[in-house]
Amino acid sequence: MNSQAEFDSLALARRQMVEFQLRARGVRDERVLDAMLRVPRHEFVEPGFHDQAYEDHPIPIGQDQTISQPYIVALMLEALRLIPGDKVLEVGTGSGYVTALLAELTAQVFSVERHAALAAKAREVLASLGYTRVKIMEGDGSQGLPTFAPFDAIIVSAAAPDLPRNLLSQLGEDGRMIIPVGAAESQHLQLIRMQNGEPLISLREACRFVPLISGEAL
Ligand code: SAH
Repeated sequence: MNSQAEFDSLALARRQMVEFQLRARGVRDERVLDAMLRVPRHEFVEPGFHDQAYEDHPIPIGQDQTISQPYIVALMLEALRLIPGDKVLEVGTGSGYVTALLAELTAQVFSVERHAALAAKAREVLASLGYTRVKIMEGDGSQGLPTFAPFDAIIVSAAAPDLPRNLLSQLGEDGRMIIPVGAAESQHLQLIRMQNGEPLISLREACRFVPLISGEAL
């Protein structure tokens, strides 16, 4: 395929992803849908996976990690109800795909990744696509980033057995956090909203994420 034909077919696949995997399944937030229409998801996977980049499943990105399924990403972003001035923390940069979407949706994005190689790759791809304002840090994201707290929103892209206390304590008033919580094989998304200093927790969709590795296991 010549490069223009490949570009066109990837753009078509991206539109179909938004219509059939997201809108048709009930994702309504136009800002999220629009961001997912704009961000070239294929750039965040190896060239060998370009033709699968817009399919309805996760894809390997190296180091035993995966880029999350588009539908789950959309649900998580929609749940956060981001507004353009929000300051957001992402735990688990992985490929950097969600980081790019966050940069489309809001002003300040901090993202933490424990694998140096993934952090470096994500930085490179994000810079090449012009996402120059996002800050990618290496380290244990389950500790959050106390220096930059409080956050308006926190998105955790790896599964925790329990709600990480350190992250909760870095949510500002009216702050929202979305995180998969549960056993290794399957979890539920939990949406937490901080109100009058108390976390209000609601249980959302079932999901399956790679584990959040923290503490000694790091
Ligand atoms: N949103 C990413 C998801 C990547 S998978 C994407 O779509 O590409 C989850 C990522 O969380 C992996 O890259 C893994 O290395 C990272 N991770 C796991 N535990 C972590 C921790 N304690 N701190 C930071 N990153 C962590």
